[in-house]
Amino acid sequence: MPWNVIVKKQFNWAHFLTDYHGSPEPIHGHTWTVEIHIKAHQLDAGGMGFDFIELDNFLKDLLPDYTLLNDIVDFSPSAENMAKWIYEKVKEKYPTLLKVVVWEKEGCGAEYWED
Ligand SMILES: [Zn+2]
Repeated sequence: MPWNVIVKKQFNWAHFLTDYHGSPEPIHGHTWTVEIHIKAHQLDAGGMGFDFIELDNFLKDLLPDYTLLNDIVDFSPSAENMAKWIYEKVKEKYPTLLKVVVWEKEGCGAEYWED
């Protein structure tokens, strides 16, 4: 039976939707929460499916804190779009990735996974 290994990390990122009901939003910031869920079929000798610190560093390198997301991506950085973008980046390194959850703020988030 597999494990779902989860890393949940908070970031301070700014963004603006490029088309919010017809016009660009003003730039603003949120404390975002990103969860990555990766399937582990076996554990190493220490009992780990994946090294949390490695996963943490991978996420930090992918999108550093205090970034304007619009400078990094060439689409409107909604929670939905960011979940898909992060999923594709994490999947390249961790092929057993199950899903990515991006919370733009408490109570407002989006999940992305492949059916
Ligand atoms: Zn926002």
